[in-house]
Amino acid sequence: MDIIVTVKQVPDPDIPPRHFQVDEAARKVIPPQGVAPVMNGYDANALEAALRLKDKHGGTVTVVTLGGDRARDTLKRGIAMGADAAIHINDPALLDADAFTTAQALAATVKKIGAFDLVLSGRQASDTDADQVQLGLPAVSPVQKVEEVADGSITVERIVEDGYQRVRSHLPGLPGMSSEANELRYPPLKGIMAAGRAQIPVWTAADLGVGAPERKVAGEQLAPTAQELASEGRRIADQLEQPLVAFLALQDATVDAASLGAYGVERVLVADQPAAEGPGGALVPVSPEWRVAAKIVVSGGRGLGAPDNRKAVDDLAAVLGAAVRASRAVTDAGWVPASHQVGLTGATVAPDLYIAIGISGAVQHVAGITGARTVVAINRDAEANIFKYARFGVVGDWKEILPAFTQRLSETPSER
Ligand SMILES: Cc1cc2nc3c(=O)[nH]c(=O)nc-3n(C[C@H](O)[C@H](O)[C@H](O)COP(=O)(O)OP(=O)(O)OC[C@H]3O[C@@H](n4cnc5c(N)ncnc54)[C@H](O)[C@@H]3O)c2cc1C
Repeated sequence: MDIIVTVKQVPDPDIPPRHFQVDEAARKVIPPQGVAPVMNGYDANALEAALRLKDKHGGTVTVVTLGGDRARDTLKRGIAMGADAAIHINDPALLDADAFTTAQALAATVKKIGAFDLVLSGRQASDTDADQVQLGLPAVSPVQKVEEVADGSITVERIVEDGYQRVRSHLPGLPGMSSEANELRYPPLKGIMAAGRAQIPVWTAADLGVGAPERKVAGEQLAPTAQELASEGRRIADQLEQPLVAFLALQDATVDAASLGAYGVERVLVADQPAAEGPGGALVPVSPEWRVAAKIVVSGGRGLGAPDNRKAVDDLAAVLGAAVRASRAVTDAGWVPASHQVGLTGATVAPDLYIAIGISGAVQHVAGITGARTVVAINRDAEANIFKYARFGVVGDWKEILPAFTQRLSETPSER
């Protein structure tokens, strides 16, 4: 029985979260220096399951990873545990790839290897929780036990909410192994020595014929989730031979429609008025080259105190010709539509000027404004986190500051 195991190198899960840093420009989480990355735990369970099947049925185990030079250590660990061979997908065009491209590259690698009976993987990556597959094999996940492999089929126990299901699928299959599956073996001395000697072939994007550059995470203003959604939409649209259309519900959103084009979107529809967010609203078709750019965004938070107080924000926005947005506290309270939410789980905005009024500056909120050129904050709490991100700050009650500010701006438009 020839088994391929896909493994990913991840930051050591024992590192406390406070030791990670966020590179906001690169939009990356940086693990601490000096702590070696490890094999994704679920992948190690998949490898252990593969080695047990090999112990029982004979055959070979090949470990495959996609990653930079350092990812080779994970393959060596796989060989030390007992794998017979390893393949390293290493290409600058594929590093930082999204889940779609990674799955595409792994699928191409499995197909290039050619002869195999089973592909085992971990149920998901422990760092990103990604678990996308594109092999076209029967995929069953999460699996707590490989019960039997016989007569061209595999029987496994798949974890469900209230217990487990017994699932039988044809070979070759693709079980996604969970940590309940087994206890990992320690690499024997013989394996460690074999790992030291192992020559590991490197395959590039060109070797695999995968088109990473077009679908790699690259857009500056499009949230990664939207990129992945567009990539997956492209795949489905290809299958259905239909055009891929994106719908932006955010009026005046600062979204680079051209970057949607880079992800295979052929047409972008933008809501041109708030009513478009509900039934019967108007949609404006635009080409992917079209760019929606609000140069000034005025955003209100829970510090406004009551829904009616939003008028003060609207007044300022009207004077500045700005788009109005809000924190999640405000959208959750139903003061404005959910599409107005800025932040991690809302929209990313990148205006020249972002004015935050009564917003504390929670990390989830500021995640959506890292592209803003200048942030101005009004908050009565001098210690509010938003001031760490603001170029200009006013400490005080917005009720005293905002009307005077709006009045002054309306009187002296030339100063804007
Ligand atoms: C998984 C997850 C995802 C999330 N995603 C988002 C997201 O995408 N976007 C987002 O915004 N949040 C998000 N949140 C919520 C986030 O953690 C905060 O709870 C939220 O941003 C707080 O909103 P706020 O700043 O308006 O309210 P608060 O934190 O209550 O802050 C109100 C601020 O107003 C100030 N204030 C009060 N009265 C006045 C006054 N009269 N004058 C001046 N200042 C005053 C206060 O000093 C305070 O700083 C998320 C949370 C989770 C757990």
